[in-house]
Amino acid sequence: MKPLNLSLKNLAKQGLQVNSYGTILERGRDGTAFSCKVKTLIRHYNSARKESVKEQCRKELEKCGVKIFTEEEIEDMKKYIKNKTGDLLGYSNCLHCGDRWNWKSYHCTRFNDSESMFPLCEECFQELPYREVLKYYHKLIQQWECDYGKSLSTAEIECFEKNIRRGKENTREL
Ligand SMILES: [Zn+2]
Repeated sequence: MKPLNLSLKNLAKQGLQVNSYGTILERGRDGTAFSCKVKTLIRHYNSARKESVKEQCRKELEKCGVKIFTEEEIEDMKKYIKNKTGDLLGYSNCLHCGDRWNWKSYHCTRFNDSESMFPLCEECFQELPYREVLKYYHKLIQQWECDYGKSLSTAEIECFEKNIRRGKENTREL
């Protein structure tokens, strides 16, 4: 398919008024033809197999004020909304990726008989190397010290370090 010329200059030539974002301000005499072009582009986009062709269609459509989000962008938006909701509801978050506990599962690690801590989500806990994981646990302890004056005993620190190793051994090597 021949690429369509939907540049602002070309649209103006066809009697369409567009603002600097490419949004149509007024339907010109060629308004119907214009909407046909958008439809054609969307059809072309949907049937395109090559990512480069899709990208070209996306760019052309954006010039017309039509934004097509990529799967990745949609996922990012969903994540943003979920995290924003969690933030407003007062949920705390993974210290590595920032995802909040209203939707993301955390990795719980005991440091004595009745208490546990979860500075990381399950995903980050599994993906990061042991040394990195350990840093986040110590970061959380520092936060507790600053916020509540709570400190952990040497035995409690040894306890969670052992449990982190155990947690990681279950899935992969340290
Ligand atoms: Zn995370």
